[in-house]
Amino acid sequence: MKVFISADMEGITGVAAAEDVVKGEPEYERGVDLLHGDVNAAVEGAVDAGADDVLVNDSHSSMRNLDRERLDDRADLIRGNTKPRSMMEGLTDEFGVALFVGYHAKAGTPEAVLNHTFFGHALQSLWVDDTEVGELGWNARLAGSLGVPVGLVTGDDATVTEAHDELTSPETVQVKEGIDRFSARCRPAAATQPAITAASCRAVERAADGALSPAQAEGPVTITASWATTNQAGSAAGVPGVDRLDGRRTAVTAEAYSDAYDATVGMLRAGGSGTDEHYG
Ligand SMILES: [Zn+2]
Repeated sequence: MKVFISADMEGITGVAAAEDVVKGEPEYERGVDLLHGDVNAAVEGAVDAGADDVLVNDSHSSMRNLDRERLDDRADLIRGNTKPRSMMEGLTDEFGVALFVGYHAKAGTPEAVLNHTFFGHALQSLWVDDTEVGELGWNARLAGSLGVPVGLVTGDDATVTEAHDELTSPETVQVKEGIDRFSARCRPAAATQPAITAASCRAVERAADGALSPAQAEGPVTITASWATTNQAGSAAGVPGVDRLDGRRTAVTAEAYSDAYDATVGMLRAGGSGTDEHYG
């Protein structure tokens, strides 16, 4: 089975504050150490369960956080942040399961560690039709549109709750408990990483048994972004196919979810360009 891993960083073991995930900050390098630990733990579990092809997509900010030399040799790595499908680049309908490692709750989730949706400041919320989604729900629906279930989500307690709201009986690993947006009570890697390996193994085994359900993503669909400022909405609306709904909101509509997703990547990049801070 082919296994896809989307690796974000805010929901990694031991990560609590913005400084832990922003390149250039002294704490970032230790965050990267922990990122490799959690991602390699997931690769280990997938291989244990019989995965014969593991693809890891670096999904955080610059998307140049994972080091090829330190990532498990049994996985391929997609590195770089200009890829058309962003956090989900590389996933096709040939994969049996997707695993979300180091994810975080959507913007506005109370006491959720580093909660945001795509941008820390620029984007207030993202909606699929009438449902507000975070990166987890937005990406899971793309996997679903390709017939691929999301079998594992790791992150803080709020992320685990969001995973159970969005997905049908996923494996989850809570690596920390949020105290507020920039503080967390963190479990040791000695506990979380073996748990990630075991949960990844179970997820791949359950996918092989046909016991996981892909997220529903029926078209036609409208994806709406609510921006912090009118100039961000204006920039987003400059992309062909993006509609300006009002001062803060822009939207894309498509018959197929995958087309709406691709258009959303362009809308978000245009609206967020020029913002001074985004940790992805
Ligand atoms: Zn991130």
